Amino acid sequence: MTSCELCGEESAGRYLCERHTVRLARQLADLPTLYAEVGECLVPRRSGWGEIIATKAAAGPQSPLNEDVLDTVSGARAAEVVRLWRVDVQRVRWPHHGAPAPAPLAADCRWLAMELDWIAAHYPAAGDLAREIWTLGAQARSVVGDPAPRPQRLGTCVAITAEGVVCGAVISRLPGKTRVQCQWCGYVYETGLDWMRLQHFQPQESA
Ligand SMILES: [Zn+2]
Ligand SMILES: [Zn+2]
Repeated sequence: MTSCELCGEESAGRYLCERHTVRLARQLADLPTLYAEVGECLVPRRSGWGEIIATKAAAGPQSPLNEDVLDTVSGARAAEVVRLWRVDVQRVRWPHHGAPAPAPLAADCRWLAMELDWIAAHYPAAGDLAREIWTLGAQARSVVGDPAPRPQRLGTCVAITAEGVVCGAVISRLPGKTRVQCQWCGYVYETGLDWMRLQHFQPQESA
């Protein structure tokens, strides 16, 4: 195995080349925001499963609504797919550990992103993983429109978690939003004071 599973380029013995590793990292970082946006575009009509209507007039290139897309594009499904990858990566890497505890999409994406270096170097299904993450992103964009609104990166979460440490998850918001909930620890940034604290306590950027 000396070439990237996505582009076939020389990859120094890794399953993914540098360029595709970086792309996968970016997609994993974007996915929770994309599916949060999908959730705002599509709401269940009643409590009935699968009955979904669009709440936004311009739903992007899929208008008029294609119901197959609405059936397959949902945050719940994305979370399920990403979860299965996390379970498999963990199984291959640490065969003696049990399955990971249930976690939201953002947490599973973050976990995979943190393991990305190992995945690119040692995980034989890295190419399939990268393709599926790409597909999930593309499906979400087919609902929210492409290009999706670019979230502004505001810094890292300064809330103190239950474990007594600074959360540190990336806080970003879509243009025009004044209320953002940290997808990792759940802290809500809403008031002017919240935003000031966020700015004030930012660690110095190292990268
Ligand atoms: Zn590549
Ligand atoms: Zn947080």
